[in-house]
Amino acid sequence: MSLVLHNTMTRRKEEFRPREEGRVLMYVCGPTVYNYIHVGNGRAYLVFDVIRRYLRYKGYEVFYVQNFTDVDDKIINRAREEGKTPQEIARFYERAFREDMRALNVLPPDVSPRATETIPQMLEMIKALVEKGHAYVVDGDVYFSVESFEGYGKLSGRSLEEMRAGERVEVDERKRHPMDFALWKSSKPGEPAWESPWGMGRPGWHIECSAMSLQHLGMGFDIHGGGQDLIFPHHENEIAQSEAYSGESPFVRYWVHNGFVNIREEKMSKSLGNIILVRDILKQYPADAVRLLALQTHYRSPIDFGPEALEEAKRALERLENCLFALDSFIAKPPPRVAPARTQREVELSDSFFDFERRFEEAMDDDFNTARAMGVIFELVKELNTYLDEQQHFQTPASPMVASHGRDTLIKLCRVLGLFAPPPEGEEVERAAEEPVAGAEDGDAFPAAEGLVELLLEVRAMARERKQFETADFIRSRLREMGIRVDDLREGQRWKFVGREE
Ligand SMILES: [Zn+2]
Repeated sequence: MSLVLHNTMTRRKEEFRPREEGRVLMYVCGPTVYNYIHVGNGRAYLVFDVIRRYLRYKGYEVFYVQNFTDVDDKIINRAREEGKTPQEIARFYERAFREDMRALNVLPPDVSPRATETIPQMLEMIKALVEKGHAYVVDGDVYFSVESFEGYGKLSGRSLEEMRAGERVEVDERKRHPMDFALWKSSKPGEPAWESPWGMGRPGWHIECSAMSLQHLGMGFDIHGGGQDLIFPHHENEIAQSEAYSGESPFVRYWVHNGFVNIREEKMSKSLGNIILVRDILKQYPADAVRLLALQTHYRSPIDFGPEALEEAKRALERLENCLFALDSFIAKPPPRVAPARTQREVELSDSFFDFERRFEEAMDDDFNTARAMGVIFELVKELNTYLDEQQHFQTPASPMVASHGRDTLIKLCRVLGLFAPPPEGEEVERAAEEPVAGAEDGDAFPAAEGLVELLLEVRAMARERKQFETADFIRSRLREMGIRVDDLREGQRWKFVGREE
């Protein structure tokens, strides 16, 4: 089956053909590290994590680059407010970002370059753009001339005339066209500054993504991703810089953009004061509930991250968990001595598992339709629950084998989407672990004390049998304080390490 994806450049779905067979090169715009990440920006990293995981599942080798914007007006302002250096602010929130991504089970990028470590590459590009007549210097600032680049506006579908007409803010008179943008800005005293042919200064935001993606992926790489709010001007400017610099086109084969985040049908924004931080959500909801919520909407559609939607996602996650738990308990029964024969019903059920996989893949191949893919997963859950119910009346020796096959299918499909996935490993994670974020608790690593938890739960079960509910509740609440959540299910007690409450 072939994968199709929506290309913002052509505004239609296209068959996916990477530059190099079997290999996908991806670039996603990373965060400006001046604050904790909120879900409005966080959605992109979940979306592209799922896309990356699915491409891997399809057999591609994926190379994923995501930058850190660590020099920017917002960082400088924040540093001024807090009496810190811009670098202190940037490093602090970079670590916090890595922590939040790890908590969301987002796989770390293969490379995550920082803007401040890519200055020579940016200077080289800016110099070449000036030489080629695509950029001009005014009082130590360097601007890109949008009129010098023929294709300006092709990604966002706007013409320069429309942009000029739509320009409402007061235009900097030193610019030749209102849409001309800064490649290099002269630094004011006290601001971070690097030497350049035009005096001490710092890079503009757009040039960093061009410099980094070209450095690590080269012209014509496969997927460039980000939120829809980046289409204009950021990605439009990246195209202009990269294509004008290299003289080649296209800069990127497929442009992929995710939709906005709403809170109770209002756009999440600073001015409305409804910003929700990823780390605050994760204090109340398991990461998989957040992932599941993101998956239940197509990545290009707007999504609601309000409390009701989160509660609903949590309940949906519990449906999945309960099914897996019931399957596990069922499979744990001793295996039969004789190789079991399956009933007709079981043969059909086993066959249907392959059908579920096929339908799941069809949904994902259609522009990563995770909403439809989740629908397939929940149909499978329903099917498996029905089968387990039947087993209460009529159980065959083959039942555990069939249940096991069903469980494997369910887990496999969930993991493709990053649900119930093992925590990410790799160098990036170690880097984050080395330097704990101020305020984070240490000792969150769970020791091998599972046996003790099991013992306490046995005592709790005995207490409940004897109707000593106070003791039972005491054990449960003390465990919760230690970061262990106990759920009472029909099948018995289940526990999970969820981290300490604040
Ligand atoms: Zn970017």
